[in-house]
Amino acid sequence: MKSRPLLLSFLVTLALGAASLTAATTKPVQPNIIVIFTDDQGYGDLGSYGAPNIETPHLDRLAAEGMRFTSFYAATFCGPSRAQLMTGSYAARVGHARNPSPNSNFGLHPNELTVAEVLRVAGYATMAIGKWHLGDAPEFLPTRQGFDTYFGLPYSNDMWRYHPKMPPRENEDALMQATRARAAYTGYSGQESYYPPNGGFPNDLPLMRDETVIEKNPDQRQLTTRYTETALQFISAPRDRPFFLYLAHAMPHVPLFVSEKFAGKSARGLYGDVLMEIDWSVGQILARLKQLGLDEHTLVVFTSDNGPWLGYGIDGGSAGPLRDGKGTTWEGGVRVPAIFRWPGKIPAARRTDAVAGNIDLLPTFARLAGAAVPADRVLDGRDLWPLLAGETPRSPHPYFHYLGGSPEGQINYRGVRDDRWKLVLNVGADGKIAARELYDLGADLGEKFDRAKQHPEIVRRLAAAAQQFHDELRQNLRPAGRRSRG
Ligand code: MG
Repeated sequence: MKSRPLLLSFLVTLALGAASLTAATTKPVQPNIIVIFTDDQGYGDLGSYGAPNIETPHLDRLAAEGMRFTSFYAATFCGPSRAQLMTGSYAARVGHARNPSPNSNFGLHPNELTVAEVLRVAGYATMAIGKWHLGDAPEFLPTRQGFDTYFGLPYSNDMWRYHPKMPPRENEDALMQATRARAAYTGYSGQESYYPPNGGFPNDLPLMRDETVIEKNPDQRQLTTRYTETALQFISAPRDRPFFLYLAHAMPHVPLFVSEKFAGKSARGLYGDVLMEIDWSVGQILARLKQLGLDEHTLVVFTSDNGPWLGYGIDGGSAGPLRDGKGTTWEGGVRVPAIFRWPGKIPAARRTDAVAGNIDLLPTFARLAGAAVPADRVLDGRDLWPLLAGETPRSPHPYFHYLGGSPEGQINYRGVRDDRWKLVLNVGADGKIAARELYDLGADLGEKFDRAKQHPEIVRRLAAAAQQFHDELRQNLRPAGRRSRG
């Protein structure tokens, strides 16, 4: 009989053990999350991605301490890429495969659930710093899409009265003269196509805090420094919950500006100086995390919104070994650097060629936060955590899709890839996929040699996957938000 209390106690211990085990496995770790998002930075513009003459020691350290992706995809240009990062879906699916201009009548639909909203519901403090570009009307601002606070430019830093395409005026001021001189010097082609035919943006460039314009035409040489200082303040604020920081630099999108700290420092010229300053910013953030003891509680992600803007000559970045650049669905337009670092959780010094993209950030972060992903809509993104944790080397995407810019409700579908092959395609007016070219991205990263004739069975398989995706996407398009004028 004496054994009964022992047995009872054993059972209680077992039950308690099971309970605590359950708690341990279901309670999310909830790391802090920092996304550093650069603008128009190319695949070849970091030391760890082979840049020959741009010094990026802090970003190189980030890669050495984390996982570096070599097949990570954004959209073809700024607004769509941000729509993807925020919603976990291809930009065309959410009606945002285009750039809103200043005073735009559209933006990301308020009903879209952004990564910031998902994390805020899970208990995160949230802040957006830098470029937004998902609509500048009040109902589209970051503060209406899940961010507690915002500091930055609501659209691109070239959407102002100092754009080189502005029609010449009498008695232009020094900044306008410098803009024209720089454009002439760099090899600027003037080919960017999405600008209004009258040639520019007559507006001032607003710098906003939350929903208030605090400056017009701010000194862009100080933007990277000011964004960094604001980020450090947010990271350092005392709080009893995790944080999500979205730091979307204006740079290195043209017009390029750099502070006196890095002016003239790079052999690569102004573009290299700007990258050095972004690298400095990353170093400041890493130092602050270490100082606060947050290294092992913080996931840091660094990536770019699209490939280099080659029409700007030497003020554009480099796609390294990849074909073409921004605005295209060649690899140089959409394949971007991506580094994930979380000491103790993500194995250090790893490189992966598994296919992933900025559509995957929302589902990955939701999993880490213990939050549910939106279940009432189609999400294209997948949870990357098994890959990041080293549990599998495989991509969660059997197929990945290349979509160019398009008006709301339309799909500009250009290609599909698996872990090796990329099919370049057209879509007929009847919605039928027509295969064009096949590239072996393993052996031919630069997309030089069409292999369609040699591999008809691969063309057929990829075309079938493309048709299935296109048919599904056409059935599940969501609208952009429409500006309410009052
Ligand atoms: Mg961009």
